[in-house]
Amino acid sequence: MSEVFLWREAPAAEFAVIGDPVGHSLSPRMHNAAFAHLGLPYRYVAVQVPASEVQPALEHLRALGYCGLNVTVPHKQEAFAWAGETDDFTARVGAANTLDLQGRIATNTDGPGFIDTLTAAGVRPNSRVLLLGAGGAARAAALALVESGYDLCIYNRTRQRAVGLISDIGIRADVLTEPRGQFDLVINATSAGLQDESPLFDWSSSRPGLAYDMLYADEPTPFLEAALKNEWMVMDGKPLLVAQGARSFTWWLGIPAPLDIMAEAVA
Ligand code: NDP
Repeated sequence: MSEVFLWREAPAAEFAVIGDPVGHSLSPRMHNAAFAHLGLPYRYVAVQVPASEVQPALEHLRALGYCGLNVTVPHKQEAFAWAGETDDFTARVGAANTLDLQGRIATNTDGPGFIDTLTAAGVRPNSRVLLLGAGGAARAAALALVESGYDLCIYNRTRQRAVGLISDIGIRADVLTEPRGQFDLVINATSAGLQDESPLFDWSSSRPGLAYDMLYADEPTPFLEAALKNEWMVMDGKPLLVAQGARSFTWWLGIPAPLDIMAEAVA
């Protein structure tokens, strides 16, 4: 657990992650390890911001001189709305996990970071992919997957939300009525694991491939436990944490991120 500051009591620092809750975030540990390794005199802290106070909190941190922020649940859409400038990918997703506070610029490193993790795991474009979920994480992943050439199907407990997702971001993907079929990769982008549950997938309907849970936890999540029982390979959300963090780091500072050091800090 990181030390958490309420936004009105935020200390002098250059970088922070904001969210509510935010104490579970490994981002301070990961970024401070990167700064220390490179001898950079920066500090990265965790700042709690309640849902109704995002705009004044961002202005306050900006006035305190903070340079860059990561943004986590549930503030990614509001952070996007606050910024005056963004890129095409982030505009289509409508949510930002990274801000240049002084420049009022927003970007989304969750989507490109997610593709980095697939590339590193050897999952090739054209692979058949099932994305479970239709919330914020699924939105960024869906757009990044389609833009990178993956063959995408989506299943969400509330089907209408998955239909809305593909029409909002303007992608071609099949919305399934049942969580079954032959896939190379099945991604859990739901928050079911936070309630110690797994989203539904009929493991017997596919040859074993790779099961990827975007959540990270010390123990395998219920989704990954089910995958392992069915002889699938598994991957949790830690590589994504590192990949999106590394992209934020480079976006803020213009230098390569020390990936190994960051991964070691959160292992
Ligand atoms: P949202 O609240 O935006 O979306 C939640 C989604 O989960 C919805 O599709 C919802 O379905 C579904 N869901 C919730 N509970 C269940 C359940 N019991 N069974 C089936 N479906 C369920 O969450 P986010 O998109 O922001 O986050 C999703 C996950 O991704 C979280 O676990 C988060 O920690 C993780 N994440 C990890 C990152 C990393 O760096 N590793 C980065 C970003 C996210 P419905 O529409 O039917 O309600």
